[in-house]
Formats: sequence, structure tokens, C-alpha cells
Amino acid sequence: MIYPDVKFFSHSALQMFETCPHKYYRVKVLKDIKETFNDAAKAGLVDHKSLENYLKTQAYLPPHLQKVKPVCDIILKYLQSPFNYVLQPESQFALSRKMQSCGWFQKGDNAAFWRAVLDVLLLNSTMTEAMVIDWKTGREKFDQDQLATNAIFLFLYYPYLQKVITKYYWIKPAKFTPEQAGEGIYFREDLYELIQEQMKRVAVVQRAYDTGLWKCNVSGLCKNYCAVSQAGSCPDYPRRN
Ligand code: SF4
Repeated sequence: MIYPDVKFFSHSALQMFETCPHKYYRVKVLKDIKETFNDAAKAGLVDHKSLENYLKTQAYLPPHLQKVKPVCDIILKYLQSPFNYVLQPESQFALSRKMQSCGWFQKGDNAAFWRAVLDVLLLNSTMTEAMVIDWKTGREKFDQDQLATNAIFLFLYYPYLQKVITKYYWIKPAKFTPEQAGEGIYFREDLYELIQEQMKRVAVVQRAYDTGLWKCNVSGLCKNYCAVSQAGSCPDYPRRN
């Protein structure tokens, strides 16, 4: 397997590139623009922290998160007999270019290349099966790539792991996706193919590095959701005809 020469990436960085290569260039490569978070994104971070604290210490959950409490309580039941799962809320994972586990900020030969944070990770006592739940606070959409990424990290971190079930939990409608049987379920034999799929995404970013072409992708997100437009610094938005 040959991996491209992007310094490091994450699912959210790839998503940023796929939404608008120029934004990625300014925020991640040139770094002349700082990513901004709107109020909804900031509230989402606070919700993640509240849910993490509830899972760790059963700390107070604010009223708007009470509807998530039954799900959290089911997760906590998995820690008890007869299931005896191990819970890791908000776990950070990093892989090097050689696809070996490494420190989040590791430099040198085995430097961190790919990073992921898993909101809720449950591992069975023999570490052969895992469940991952990703809390989602925004608008409902289905993103298979993030689920696949979760599975890749776990298979590479836990050598005995055979099966990963990974799902989103959408806080506003209080529901899980995927709901269809089979989706979001991965087996170790899928690993090579899963990595290849994600590396194809990285290769597209690499092409932009190689060619210096960082296309502006003008969309409905430009006006209110882009730090480049908010800084009045996008070459294509607003359109200058
Ligand atoms: S304003 Fe739109 S086109 Fe310009 S960088 Fe932002 S997302 Fe891309």
C-alpha cells in the first residue's frame, strides 16, 4: 500500500476539503484563516462534554439532554454483569503513516498521520467485539466514511477485535442511524478495503498539494458557515462578475 504525502488528516479535515478545497487550503495549509465555530457548533461541544461526564460519573444532564439519558443508561448497563464491557468515552486514537498506533502528538518516524476521537467506545471483555456511538448534534445525515474510519482505528488498535458495530445517535430527533441491518457493522476481513477507500480520499487532497489547485466550491455554506468568507477573503465568494 502506498500512502500519499499529506502531513496528517482526520475525517473532519477530509470533510472540509471535500466541501471546499480552498477553505481547507486557507485553514489547514496556509493557516492565514482560523476556523470559526458558530453557536450551534459550540453548543454541540458542550453537549458532548455533558454526555461524557454523565457516562463517567453520572453527572447532571441538562434538560435538553434528558432524552439521551435512557441511551446512556443502556450503555452503562453494558458495564455490568453478564456483559462486562469496558467503556471509553471520548477516546483519542492516532495512527502513523505505517498504520501503526502512536501518540496523538507523536513526531519522528512513527509520527501521527491520522487522528480520530470516538465519542463512546464499548469493548467486550475479550476485546473481540466493539460498539461505537458517535453523538450528533447537527442536522441528520448519513456519513458512511466516519463509521468506516471508526472501525479502521479499532481494528488497528485492538489486534483481537473481529467485529465493530458503529452508529450515530442524533440528539435532536433522539434516534440512531443506521437503522438498516448490516450497515455500520464491520469485520476484520474488511480492513484492507476500508483503508484503501479512505486513502483514495486522502489521495485527492494530495493531488491538490501536488498541483497547487485548491478550487473554491461556492455553495449555500459560504455565506454563514465559512471563516474565509467571513474574513472577506474568498476569491470566488461573493461572486465578482
Ligand atoms: S466562501 Fe465558499 S468558496 Fe470561498 S472558501 Fe469558503 S466555502 Fe469555499
